[in-house]
Amino acid sequence: MKIKTKLRLGLGVLFSMILALSLIAASYIYALKEDTQNILQDNYKTLDYSRSMFLAIDQIRTDPDAWTRFARSLKQQESNVTEPLEGEVTGKLADHFSLLRKDPDNQQLPVLIRNDLAELTRINMEAIRAKSDKALATVQSAFIWIAITGTICFLIALTLLINLPGNVGNPIRELTESIRAIAAKQYTERLHFSGKDEFGELASSFNTMAEKLEEYDNSNLSQILVEKKRIEALINNMHEPVIGLDENKKILFANDQAVRISGIAASDLLGKSAVELAVQNDLIRALIQEKNSGNGINGHSGNAPLKIYADDKESYFEKEIVDITIVPTGERVKKFIGQVILLKNITPFKELDFAKTNFIATVSHELKTPIASIKMSLQLLESQHTGVMNEEQKQLVTSIKEDSNRLLKMTGELLNMSQVETGNIQLNIQQSSPYDILKYAIDAVKTSVEQKNIELVVHAAEQLSDVKADMEKTAWVLINFLTNAVRYSPQDGKIHIQLAGSDQGVQFMVRDEGKGIDSRYRTKIFDRYFQVPGSSKTGTGLGLAISKEFIEAQGGSIGVTSEIGMGSTFYFNLANA
Ligand code: ADP
Repeated sequence: MKIKTKLRLGLGVLFSMILALSLIAASYIYALKEDTQNILQDNYKTLDYSRSMFLAIDQIRTDPDAWTRFARSLKQQESNVTEPLEGEVTGKLADHFSLLRKDPDNQQLPVLIRNDLAELTRINMEAIRAKSDKALATVQSAFIWIAITGTICFLIALTLLINLPGNVGNPIRELTESIRAIAAKQYTERLHFSGKDEFGELASSFNTMAEKLEEYDNSNLSQILVEKKRIEALINNMHEPVIGLDENKKILFANDQAVRISGIAASDLLGKSAVELAVQNDLIRALIQEKNSGNGINGHSGNAPLKIYADDKESYFEKEIVDITIVPTGERVKKFIGQVILLKNITPFKELDFAKTNFIATVSHELKTPIASIKMSLQLLESQHTGVMNEEQKQLVTSIKEDSNRLLKMTGELLNMSQVETGNIQLNIQQSSPYDILKYAIDAVKTSVEQKNIELVVHAAEQLSDVKADMEKTAWVLINFLTNAVRYSPQDGKIHIQLAGSDQGVQFMVRDEGKGIDSRYRTKIFDRYFQVPGSSKTGTGLGLAISKEFIEAQGGSIGVTSEIGMGSTFYFNLANA
């Protein structure tokens, strides 16, 4: 039954019962009123007339008015006959009175009249008793009916009071809970209102909605699963290892390649914390490190390749860690949700690089002997043991000497570089005087400085403490700075050399007044084989790269400050001994 109908019916019955109660009460009150009125009108009046007639008959012989009073009361009684037998007795009374009128001295007739009056009184008194009994019965039945109707009203009101709030409130509460569940994506939630009322209809609509949502959710889920499988297949078929981590560094996925090189079973890898695995596994530790610590082949820090034993040989991988961020729905701020570690197999390039380095090392080493012999031959030519040279020959010899010096410098750089690349820098770190290093370097560039008529301005702080350095290699770096400064300084220019001390160590600085270096290239000039576009092509592009390796291998730091057109300042710092 519908709630509306239930309410209407309940309240309607209650209303009808209250109406019935009122009608019953009113009808009984009316009946009681009728009964009392009847007694008063019908019987009380007859008793009153009878009493007047009794008095009149007693005085009839002494008082002539008594005849009139009797006749009047009799007449009134004749028009107030209400009870059975009352009419007959009144008729007899009237007959006896008319006989008395004709025969006033008759002694028998007043007695008969009195008997008639007594009979009349008895009839009416009995009628009064009967009517009083009837009124009592009316009162009793009124009491019973009013009590029954009142009880029914009370029971209906009580039933409504107990059931109605629950009938309406409980389904609303259940509905609220179910809506909350749906909002929390629990699409399996259903309402179970069995009735055929409005809540039954509501439950069936709600359940249809939940079913559709569930179906939609499932269809989405299956689609997402298909897409997930597709992406997994794509990642698995990639030739390079790929590992996905969540924001807590838990391994979400690792493709076949990654599993193979890690040497750990997929089941022991997936879902595990990379940080915990890193404690046992060096490779995982190297993978999750934001910066490579330099386990690479050439001691390069930053992005040194990872050396991993894979495919039955040593392989080299370049690692890239990509942070994954998303903007969650309805939010504005980006949220970090994990990382993808991509490994690029660079073994073929590394092999080529090794071949190149070996080739360079061999060639430059082999070149050293013939160049040395050329230089010796030139010295013999200059010493005039082989005869006196004319001016033209002297110039040719000088030019050959310059070229062979340059060749020697280049082969020296190439050899140094091959040492650097194979990780074979042999350092001879000793307590070295910065002044000695400075002197050694200045002596080495003296000739070229003089050739360009350059003024060397030296600002060396006094009493500098010794540094921990490989004297030869540090001087090599300073010479490289000075050679570059001379090369990029104008004719008759100035080069400032500064030695400054601090608590930690000594800074060597070379400042020129040359063309300066564009900010775009300031970090790149320390890369191997890099030359600023448009600069003199006579060099190898290796000098600064080797300098960086030499200084960093000694635990120092190297850098440059420069502005286009304002000259360049190269510096390196070494720690105190
Ligand atoms: P290179 O053998 O070419 O000199 P370097 O590694 O010594 O190799 O220098 C790399 C590049 O840095 C040079 O090609 C040049 O363009 C730039 N460079 C080095 N020193 C200076 C300097 N003092 N002034 C301007 N540019 C310089």
